[in-house]
Amino acid sequence: MPGFELFGDKERKEVNDVLDNGVLMRYGFDGMRNGHWKAKELEAELEKSFRTKHVQLVSSGTAAVSVALASAGIGAGDEVIMPTFTFVASFEAIMMLGAIPILVDIDDTLGLDPKAVEKAITSKTKAIMVVQMCGSMANMDALVTIAKKHNILLVEDACQAIGGTYQGKPLGSIGDLGCFSFDFVKTITCGEGGAVITNNEKYYSNADHYSDHGHDHIGNDRGAESHPFLGYNFRISELHAAVGLAQVKRLPEFLDIQKRNFSIIRNALADIPEVTFRTVPEGGLESCAFLNFFLPDLETSRRVMEGFKKGDIDACWNYYDNSWHYIRKWDHLKNLKLLHPISQEVKKGLEYLKEKNFNQSDYYIGRNISCLIKLSWTEEEVQLRANKMAEIIKEILR
Ligand SMILES: *Cc1c(COP(=O)(O)O)cnc(C)c1O
Repeated sequence: MPGFELFGDKERKEVNDVLDNGVLMRYGFDGMRNGHWKAKELEAELEKSFRTKHVQLVSSGTAAVSVALASAGIGAGDEVIMPTFTFVASFEAIMMLGAIPILVDIDDTLGLDPKAVEKAITSKTKAIMVVQMCGSMANMDALVTIAKKHNILLVEDACQAIGGTYQGKPLGSIGDLGCFSFDFVKTITCGEGGAVITNNEKYYSNADHYSDHGHDHIGNDRGAESHPFLGYNFRISELHAAVGLAQVKRLPEFLDIQKRNFSIIRNALADIPEVTFRTVPEGGLESCAFLNFFLPDLETSRRVMEGFKKGDIDACWNYYDNSWHYIRKWDHLKNLKLLHPISQEVKKGLEYLKEKNFNQSDYYIGRNISCLIKLSWTEEEVQLRANKMAEIIKEILR
């Protein structure tokens, strides 16, 4: 996945454009910047890439999720449905708005289970946040239908799925709003950065103002702008955007390498009868950022992980005991370890986490192994790796 693996002259050139004129800020300073608008250019490139009307760059993927929800008016006391398997950023972004994350089970897509989503909807539910984990997608048809039926917002966190598609549409462009991250380990990187994408004019202009102190961005005099509402600072800098601009132009190249490396490993594991792969909904194409497969049970997954470790197969995870990506170890959320007070309503709203079991998620995550697909591997290296992985798995299953 990581764009930082292939990094160099093109990124340096874009950054130097910015350093040469000294305007590190994405807005204003028109006279000084010699026509360099890296953030604007990157937004235009991403609009093409994601085939969407509007892109608003922000400072991170976490900021993108908060800004997306806020731009649709979601806030204090609203319930947002999200999956048990994601990065901690998902509930952070919801909590920051004073909203309540409602965690529900995943299915064999490793994304939100539509049946669990439907069960979790209450009169307070304002949004479903689907997370397209590890380069693939949840059952989007079913989720779009549920969101429409209940008239609630569908937000897509596609931070790990740049380049994946569903029925020909880029992941992130299917929901009402989509969120991306360009942090250091994502498919393309800005160092730190993120984006909100949408076809909705109102959400876009809200996101544009909200992420820059509520400034309305009308006219050329920054100091004279008015404030239709209160905002915050989630801006990206020109330096970060410059890096992203070089990276986004290389995205097709990155995705080709990713697909090649993914296929080599997948093919090597495909003839092991006990190995099955995550379900990709019909009409879906993975970005191939990760290869995800299932083993018969948690015990076997753990033994295979040990085998991988001994055999120097790095960058593979069984997320069952992982504190970054899976509910079981999110004790700080479950026990509400907070730095500052939050509302009683949110505290009460999170009490369900103490008792609720997520057996269905445990079943899939326990059996899953997720392997990062690197861009820096040569074809020969991947083939060797793939053969070794297959050998280790077969040995353990014997
Ligand atoms: C990386 C990531 C984020 C957060 O992005 P940052 O840019 O690191 O804040 C959110 N959701 C998912 C699924 C991610 O992988």
